[in-house]
Amino acid sequence: MGKIKFEKFIQKAKLRSPLQGFRKVVQHIEVRIDPLTERRCRINVERAKRPRQTPTETADLDKLIESSRAKCFFCPQNIEKSTPMFAEGLPDRIKVGSACLFPNLFPFGGFHAVGVFSGDHYLELNQFAPKLLEDCFKTCLRYFRLVHKKHPEIRYWYINWNHLPPGAASIIHPHVQIMADPEPSPYLQDLIEKSKSYRERNGSNYWLDLIESEKSEKVRFIGESGPVCWLASFAPQGNREVLAIFSGTSSLTKLEKHGLSKFCGGLSAVLKGYHALGVQSFNLATFSGPCDEDLGDFYLLNAKLISRPNPAPFYTSDNGFMEKFHQEPVIESMPEDLARGLRAYF
Ligand SMILES: [Zn+2]
Repeated sequence: MGKIKFEKFIQKAKLRSPLQGFRKVVQHIEVRIDPLTERRCRINVERAKRPRQTPTETADLDKLIESSRAKCFFCPQNIEKSTPMFAEGLPDRIKVGSACLFPNLFPFGGFHAVGVFSGDHYLELNQFAPKLLEDCFKTCLRYFRLVHKKHPEIRYWYINWNHLPPGAASIIHPHVQIMADPEPSPYLQDLIEKSKSYRERNGSNYWLDLIESEKSEKVRFIGESGPVCWLASFAPQGNREVLAIFSGTSSLTKLEKHGLSKFCGGLSAVLKGYHALGVQSFNLATFSGPCDEDLGDFYLLNAKLISRPNPAPFYTSDNGFMEKFHQEPVIESMPEDLARGLRAYF
């Protein structure tokens, strides 16, 4: 412990504000640096209060849910006739409980599948029960194992979830997108390489050090579900970023025996907390080491969630020039406030 540096510096912006009779005001911008990747973000909580020239009502979401229902490819009346089937020795579709997994009709990888949670066309974030999540993730793991058996070079497995259009989902019906790839994504590669050099420098596992440090500092610690520790990220890549770290495993390979149900319990709790904070749209991704190699000495399986803007006909995106080009996201809430808000759900 004590090896992890939570570095930040403050920039002050001085201006005479029309909102305060043109009196001089000072706004504090926190620039935070991720202790592992050294990626930066800027936090100004004042920005959440800024006026937006876009309507904020979300009643149109109800209209969208209803209008998309009849022709939904993922609803029970259409799923068998409208979704693709696997080729080459896999089952047509992979089913566990109410979950169903099939190939992505418009893939961006050689092994890119879609997992539909259930026949429910729409679920509020407080309606994702642990069992519902677990059944779907089991279909993902089964797919990964089948792919790896036939193609041993496909070693990197990802479970990803875009929820609602502001989170880049093209279909309302809740679903995950999973990929199996021969190479790690550039971000995953960075995580693995920097975790390895942290180990060489400090003689310890960054992820275990982070858990220990955050548990003792308490301010960003949210809770634990079995072997999974839930934290608010010190230097988030998106708003309301939650980081889950799996003690004892570096990949998704043994997840079913190593805390899948506990992870789903924790994820269900975080989604309930998001719901209470008024979040409707979000992204989730897992960052798994290679499926056939144990990196546990220096790396641990982890997953991240971020909230996205609420759906409305016109909304202000949270993905602008700072995020797309400069890779230094602008964040509107303090991680410490997020942790305080979500802790009650554990
Ligand atoms: Zn549907």
